[in-house]
Amino acid sequence: MMKFNPILSNFPEYKPSSTIISSDLIDLSKNENPFDVSHEIKQIFYNKINQTSLNRYPELTSETIRQKIAEFLNDYFKSYKLNLNKNNIVVGNGSDELISYLVKIFDGEEVIVCPPTFEMYEFYSTLHNLKVKEVPLDQNFEIRNLDQKINEKARLIFICSPNNPTGNIQPEDEIIKILEKGFPVVIDEAYADFSKKSMIKYLEKYPNLIILRTFSKAFGLAGIRAGILIANQEIVNQIMKIKSPYSFNILSEKMVETIIENYEDVLKTIDYIIEERNALSKKLVGYALKSDSNFLLIDLSKKKGLTAEKAYNFFLENKIIVRKYTGVFENKIRVTVGTKEENQKFLDCFNSLLDKYY
Ligand SMILES: *Cc1c(COP(=O)(O)O)cnc(C)c1O
Repeated sequence: MMKFNPILSNFPEYKPSSTIISSDLIDLSKNENPFDVSHEIKQIFYNKINQTSLNRYPELTSETIRQKIAEFLNDYFKSYKLNLNKNNIVVGNGSDELISYLVKIFDGEEVIVCPPTFEMYEFYSTLHNLKVKEVPLDQNFEIRNLDQKINEKARLIFICSPNNPTGNIQPEDEIIKILEKGFPVVIDEAYADFSKKSMIKYLEKYPNLIILRTFSKAFGLAGIRAGILIANQEIVNQIMKIKSPYSFNILSEKMVETIIENYEDVLKTIDYIIEERNALSKKLVGYALKSDSNFLLIDLSKKKGLTAEKAYNFFLENKIIVRKYTGVFENKIRVTVGTKEENQKFLDCFNSLLDKYY
């Protein structure tokens, strides 16, 4: 008799994705980079692929690309004088793969998450039958005094900074207080290129610190699925024991190699997006929360009768996709900072929406 794992009943039903992304839709729902990598970059990538044997498996433990990433990070964070090498790096098929390993390698009863935050921490914990302890963010969406809520049951602590979906960075002194307790702490810095603040400088001081970064956002490579984990060698070694062999494929490897050898354009894009974010925030005063990332969380609760669902549908009629929320966030939508033109279209549409609910 066929029986499914009872854990699966904790997950929502599978539904085929309902929004078809066609080219006339502006997708501001996934915090992607609005710019694809340039033709020059793609050409370098094609040349690398031309010289690569695709009939062969990638390197078993990705030593070469891990070393290149370590050196890239030493350069990207020059002022911190990091001394990273491949033994500090794990590459994954998106950060999601890395999160799935992190929940497995430590001992302890409870995974600590701070909602509202990225769903994947809880997703993988639940999938592995782990107990999740939720310590909600305070009214400013900060982790104030989280250290006081952590006890011996802690297995690991996930902190997203800047936080998705609220957009704000977490106070460094609060993160330090948690690190001082000695439990493993993951800082998910998927959006840190837009805040220009990183906890990576504390890696040497705190062997319990784990940093997650991704090529999906600022680096404009969501389609190739490349995430990185940076930590001390002991943690990296434990992950390498359980990592799916070859999960980081050759195409991703060559594209990551290309972008880190040529990241001047990325820096320009980051500045462009930060400027656009600040401009958009100003025009959304009273609605948008302060953001240190490439998206804005917009609170609609001032407008009586306007829910996220209604706003979502209105934007969709106008060919714009935003992210809507339910539950405690049912009055909020999240919008990704796009190109100047896309942001203007969003603003025009937002103003028409507000006019309907004066
Ligand atoms: C987008 C995002 C990531 C990146 O995920 P990938 O699997 O690398 O694409 C990681 N963490 C957070 C909080 C994110 O929003």
